[in-house]
Amino acid sequence: MLAVLAIFMVTLGRELFDLFGLLHLWLAPLSRADRAILEGTAPYYRQLPQRQRRRFAKRVKYFLAEKEWEGRDIALTRAMQVRIAATAVRLTWGFDLLLLLHFNRIVVYPTAYRDPATGRRHQGGVAPGRRSILLAWDHFEAGEQDPADARNLGLHELAHALWLEDRIPNEEDELFDPATMAEWRQLAEAEAAAIRKGQGRLFRAYAATDQAEFFAVAVEYFFEQPVLFKERMPDLYGCLARLLRQDPADPAVARTA
Ligand SMILES: [Zn+2]
Repeated sequence: MLAVLAIFMVTLGRELFDLFGLLHLWLAPLSRADRAILEGTAPYYRQLPQRQRRRFAKRVKYFLAEKEWEGRDIALTRAMQVRIAATAVRLTWGFDLLLLLHFNRIVVYPTAYRDPATGRRHQGGVAPGRRSILLAWDHFEAGEQDPADARNLGLHELAHALWLEDRIPNEEDELFDPATMAEWRQLAEAEAAAIRKGQGRLFRAYAATDQAEFFAVAVEYFFEQPVLFKERMPDLYGCLARLLRQDPADPAVARTA
């Protein structure tokens, strides 16, 4: 009887601890040190009004806590994690809370790595089977170096994760409105065909690889050259703004949803 009581108390204790841990996670703000990293590395965060900054920081905190972080042949620092988390929040900012739940592991390599399955070198990728997002850190940093060259590895790979998350059955599936997605696929196909004929309106040729790459490349332009993207391809831009529920070309109207 005592043993049963002891087990009960221990279990209850553990559950209370979990509960407090969870409450702390949900209620406490992002730590001062982590906010300083955001301030120093995420210009889009600095531009947000005060209240939205708090909300953004909280979302970064959830993303940091929800993922398993792994550095392969690299010491993964907190600053690196915060920067990756901030990129994920930036991409998913238009949604209430979107953590890309299927991908619970972020794996960081120092530089381009060889995929043992294909023997090819990659700067990043998504491995839905292993529930992982893979990033080469030097390429991630290079992507952030110039915020307006439409090259951003972090956004690109996270966009792949989002594209898949939409169709993987879990709490975060069916993120995109099906009618808008159908429209997007049609517009993307037409633009990819134009790119193949050398008549693309803006995107680099790689976008024409397939629908998934087109989406990932479009996301890079969406955040890094939004005004030009909107000007040259208002149809595609408008559609992507509806899918992602934000409008970086006109941040004033962002977050109206
Ligand atoms: Zn890609």
